[in-house]
Amino acid sequence: MRKHEAIGFHIMVVSPSGDMSMYYNICMLTAEYMYKMVNLAMEEEQVVKVVKFGGSSLASAEQFKKVGNIIHSDASRRYVVPSAPGKRNAKDTKVTDMLYYCYDLACKGKDFSEGLARIKARYQEIIDGLELNLCLEDQFAEIEQNFKNKVGRDYAASRGEYLNGIVMARYLGYPFVDAEDVIRFHDDGTLDEATTEKLLKDRLYNKEYAVIPGFYGAAADGKVKTFSRGGSDVTGSLVAAAVDADVYENWTDVSGVMIADPRLIKDPKAIHTITYRELRELAYMGATVLHEDAIFPVRTAGIPINIRNTNEPEDPGTMIVQTTCVKPEYTITGVAGKKGFVAINIEKAMMNSEIGFGRKVLQVFEDNGISFEHMPSGIDTMTILVHQDEFEQNEQKVITGIKHAVNPDHIELESDLALVAVVGRGMRETRGTSGRIFSALAHARVNVKMIDQGSSEWNIIIGVKNTDFEPAIKAIYDIFVTAEL
Ligand code: ASP
Repeated sequence: MRKHEAIGFHIMVVSPSGDMSMYYNICMLTAEYMYKMVNLAMEEEQVVKVVKFGGSSLASAEQFKKVGNIIHSDASRRYVVPSAPGKRNAKDTKVTDMLYYCYDLACKGKDFSEGLARIKARYQEIIDGLELNLCLEDQFAEIEQNFKNKVGRDYAASRGEYLNGIVMARYLGYPFVDAEDVIRFHDDGTLDEATTEKLLKDRLYNKEYAVIPGFYGAAADGKVKTFSRGGSDVTGSLVAAAVDADVYENWTDVSGVMIADPRLIKDPKAIHTITYRELRELAYMGATVLHEDAIFPVRTAGIPINIRNTNEPEDPGTMIVQTTCVKPEYTITGVAGKKGFVAINIEKAMMNSEIGFGRKVLQVFEDNGISFEHMPSGIDTMTILVHQDEFEQNEQKVITGIKHAVNPDHIELESDLALVAVVGRGMRETRGTSGRIFSALAHARVNVKMIDQGSSEWNIIIGVKNTDFEPAIKAIYDIFVTAEL
């Protein structure tokens, strides 16, 4: 007997007597309907969202209230990861920076009481604004003592998230789970992924709601350690993977990942849906939205990230997904770039038939601890693009090394280059994309120094002079976005 038949049978038993076959049919239909409703409700209930809020979203009581509204408006927002209070305005200082400053004073044996009082005042302002019955005196006394005992810079920085977590937990009425107990680092400061996953799963298993502060954790000996700056993103991602969330919402102060850097393009359009691969490419080229280590835990677990704006909660933001059939709005998904590269052009007749030529050249870079970015090559030429600041210190050693290794006819250096990446899954199937890019660059009087397109066709890298960097980005944005609007 299927489940709805059992429910129907039960209803039938308690029904008044009469035409049994009609009753039977009505009861079965009612039961089937009820069963579907119960199932739907259960499915809805099971949606789990992990929500991480950045520093600017929690910089003041007013911002906390916006966050409270966002959380309460969706019951599936069950696990909350807060950052430390960030800047309230352009001239303000982040609490994390205030903590670093105080701790550095403490290490020099100087008085840091004034700085600590300022940090205390920031939290008090939030507590008062939210009308919470909460006193952080004990926590501050402990922090002061630990600073005097110089327990560590990571400990110092982590207190911003720790205290904000306590405030957030009280404000929401959610249990507080100290990140020290659930995020585990190895002694060398790298994340112990396996232990972290187990600790998070064990601790959150029977917690319907929780606040877990971002940015820090502890080594096995209990010493507090942090991720690098912006690391609350990573905590959110780890929590999302551990609770098998349906989505990891990352709330910040912009409405998603932008097609181009807003410092170069005025009010650029936001990207609606982007794949992890595309984002990785844009992020590597300088687009900053997420801590780069935040991608891997959720990507492995197949959980999408939704970048949202705390100040514009109605905006859908950007969905970052493993794969999608959602067509990008424009031919390109995004354009980004970086300045400060140098090209080492190596020429040698018959290079193409000299087996091991490339390996020998790259060995020289490896021996000097320099990683290469791109390596376009011709029949008798090979170009290695590297970061200028890394290369400059070892320049002559590298040139001598190449001469010894492969005895080239000619080596030439070209410095002050920029790389521009045009990224988009939509470029794959679209004829004429590169034609449009290069004619736009030609119109903008930008000389193209290098082109590198992988066979995957969703990524074209263009080398230009540093001075042509901004015009190049603008020309590409205009031809694909402004012109397609
Ligand atoms: N509060 C830390 C920082 O300022 C970490 C974070 O916000 O994610 O870098």
